[in-house]
Amino acid sequence: MNLLDSELVASKLVQAGYEPCEDEALAGILLFNTCSVRDHAENRVWSKLGALRVRKEQEPELLIGVLGCMAQEHKIYLRTRMPHVDRVCGTMDFGKIDEYIAEIREKREGLVQTGDGASGDLVLRDVKQRPNRAQAYVNIIRGCNMPCTYCIVPATRGVEVSRPIAEILPEVEALVGDGVTEVTLLGQTVNAYGHDLPDKQNLSKLLRELHAIPSLRRIQFITSHPNFLTRELMETMAELPRVSRYFHLPAQSGSNEILQRMKRLYTREKYLARIRDLQELIPDMEFASDWIVGYPGETEEDHELTKSLMEEVRFSQSYVFKYSPRPLTVADDYFEDDVSEEIKARRNQDLLAIQNRISLEKNQALVGKVVEILLEGPSKKGEGRFQGRTAHHRIVHLEGVGPQQVGCYLPVRIEKAMSHSMMGQLVDEERFTMDSRDAGDEGILSA
Ligand code: SF4
Repeated sequence: MNLLDSELVASKLVQAGYEPCEDEALAGILLFNTCSVRDHAENRVWSKLGALRVRKEQEPELLIGVLGCMAQEHKIYLRTRMPHVDRVCGTMDFGKIDEYIAEIREKREGLVQTGDGASGDLVLRDVKQRPNRAQAYVNIIRGCNMPCTYCIVPATRGVEVSRPIAEILPEVEALVGDGVTEVTLLGQTVNAYGHDLPDKQNLSKLLRELHAIPSLRRIQFITSHPNFLTRELMETMAELPRVSRYFHLPAQSGSNEILQRMKRLYTREKYLARIRDLQELIPDMEFASDWIVGYPGETEEDHELTKSLMEEVRFSQSYVFKYSPRPLTVADDYFEDDVSEEIKARRNQDLLAIQNRISLEKNQALVGKVVEILLEGPSKKGEGRFQGRTAHHRIVHLEGVGPQQVGCYLPVRIEKAMSHSMMGQLVDEERFTMDSRDAGDEGILSA
């Protein structure tokens, strides 16, 4: 969501005549789009802002702004602690960022704006302003109504507000018209989409509308809450072959005691039942989950239950976080952060070790097979390689391709498997069918 918000802000500023600057030291405006989910992310922003104090003294014309969740959370305190910050702009106000910048330049005084201003989606999106040619994020619902006791998001992002299908559809059509073939629909609780809209709009209906757009080859959506995974949604996903077969469904814990303390509003049994139902309808579906270790009151038994849930589902990916108390949350107000850092670190490693083993086993099963990837760009590992993703969201590194193929769907034979990625070799395109959805399990193509 933050990546998309940054894209929308950049797009708005380009439309207003500003130019992006590659070198931070040469920029006349520095905007930080921030996250409050963990204290680690916040600490990095505080330290970055602190380091800019001297530069601001030397360059009074430099304009520094803080956007997003930290702005929403800290409001005036942010400028009290960092008086050299010119603009504090909350999660619902960045739609007017160009006006705010003009205002500051005129008045030369700091401003804090964290009200119920224009939502980010009121930024008229210029579909040509985006970092990836073939892939795009599209927000469909903002905010969250859930009561998770550890989470600051409802306080910083507000209540759920869905965008009507009539607004989303033309945006996606315009993106596809400009070369996008993969969209990722975004929301904090993306599968709760539509409940606040008239005419029973929901994610199933939206997926059907989007699936009818020719040339749109992959449709993903994140992040889902297990409680809103309805039978209708599961059947829709099964019916629509271009809807992703990689499903991010955060479990957070495998212990009912902890799930109750987290107020996730489901049990381990209910979570597993949803997974099984979806696997029955879509046998090649792969799952990913988020986990919090060291939640207040988490015992070794609770931790063992989380480990066993990981083993049972065999997720293809896990994002593991050590619990840290966040302000404005029930857990911070009422629970003692009573699991030591040492134990949190060990449990974190336990879960990572399990996930790494399972991921490696899943990747090894693909060695020698041909999969279709969407080539995304240069490999993060460098060495002249490029990387792409399979229909199941697995990363494949390969050589022998160039920037001109970025955004193309390519058949690749898997040669080596690691935990987090695979190495592959481009195969003769003409000898293979190119629609992975026709290729069956794991997007395996046949000669
Ligand atoms: S569903 Fe829970 S964890 Fe997710 S954003 Fe809402 S409150 Fe936070």
